[in-house]
Amino acid sequence: MSGNHVDLRSDTVTRPTAAMRQAMAEAEVGDEQRGEDPTVNALQARVAAMLGKEAGVFLPSGSMCNEIALLVHCRPGEEVICDRTAHIITSEGGGPAALAGAMVRPLDGEAGVYSPEQLADAVRAVSRYAPRSRLAVVEQTSNQGGGTIWPLETIEAVGETAKAHGLLLHMDGARLLNAVVESGVDAARYAAPFDSVWVDFSKGLGCPVGAVLAGSAEFIEAAWQWKQRLGGSMRQSGILAAAGLHALDHHVARLAEDHANARSLADKVRALPKLTLDQLRVDSNLVFFDCAETGLSASDLSDALRAKGVLIGAMGRHRLRAVTHLDVDAAAVDTAGEALEAVVGG
Ligand SMILES: *Cc1c(COP(=O)(O)O)cnc(C)c1O
Repeated sequence: MSGNHVDLRSDTVTRPTAAMRQAMAEAEVGDEQRGEDPTVNALQARVAAMLGKEAGVFLPSGSMCNEIALLVHCRPGEEVICDRTAHIITSEGGGPAALAGAMVRPLDGEAGVYSPEQLADAVRAVSRYAPRSRLAVVEQTSNQGGGTIWPLETIEAVGETAKAHGLLLHMDGARLLNAVVESGVDAARYAAPFDSVWVDFSKGLGCPVGAVLAGSAEFIEAAWQWKQRLGGSMRQSGILAAAGLHALDHHVARLAEDHANARSLADKVRALPKLTLDQLRVDSNLVFFDCAETGLSASDLSDALRAKGVLIGAMGRHRLRAVTHLDVDAAAVDTAGEALEAVVGG
C-alpha cells in the first residue's frame, strides 16, 4: 500500500518493515570503503556463498552492478549480446554506450529468453571489420519478458555456447531469488555458468537500497575500482547491508506469496473480456496485460484505476504492468481486481 492506494507499480515501492528498521538501527558499522564495515562484509560474503562465487561487492543499485560488470568485462567497441527487452537496453540511461562504450546486440527471444542457437548465430567472426563479441547477458527473471524464469537447462546450454565461443557471461539477477523460490533450483546452480552475477535487495526483498555483485576475487577487485571511480563507495553502509541480511533471513521464502498473488491477479485479468494477459504464463510476480479492446490508452486506464485507489503503471500505448510484493496481500489483489472490473467492465 502507498497511502490508501494498492500500489502495484513495482516491487520497488515496498517500505522497510518495523523488524527490518530495527535490524538496521542495531547494525554494527565501520568505514565500508576501508573494508571495515562488518555488516557489509558479512552481506558480501553471504551473497557470494549463496551464488557460489569467490567474492562480492555491495553497491547502491542493481543498475550499478550491471554497468560495472560491463565496464570490467568489455573494452569500448566490443559487443554485448542480450535479449531485446533487457534492462541494460531499456532502463539504464544508455549506460552500456555512455560508460563501457559497448555495442549492444539485441536478440529476439521469447518472453525475454533467447536460445543457445540464437546466441551462437549472433556471435561475430573475428575480423578487422566486426565488433568483437565479448559478453552475453541473461536476465533472471526477465522483467519485460513478463517475469519469465529462465529454465536451468536453457541457462546451462547458453553457458556452454558462450564458453564454446569465448564469450564471458553475466547474469542480471535483479529477481534471481524469485526464480529460486518458484523453481526450487538453488541460486548457485543458476549462477554457476556466469562470470558475474548480482541480486537486488530493493525489489521483492523489500530493502530500501542495495545490491551485491559477485564473481571471482579478481573480477571483484576490478569492480571495486569502478565502484570507487563512479562514486559508489560508501561509509557506514552497514545500516543498509543489515536490511539485506534481514531480508535474506525473512523475505525470501515469502516471495512465493507474491507469485500466488500474481497468478490470482492474472486470473482476474483473464476473466475480463476487454483485457488480454500479455504473457505466456505467470512465472513470478509480474503481470503484463493489454487494454487495446477497452478503447482506453494504457495511461488513461492507469489514471482511471488511480481514481479507484489502485496504482498500475502504463508500459506502452496499450500495455500495463502490475507487480505483486511484500506490501500487497490477497485482499489488496481483490481490490485491484474489483477496480479493473469497475473501469473496463466485466
Ligand atoms: C530493477 C532492475 C534493475 C536495476 O536495479 P536497480 O536496483 O533499480 O538499479 C536491473 N535489471 C532488472 C531486470 C531490473 O528489474
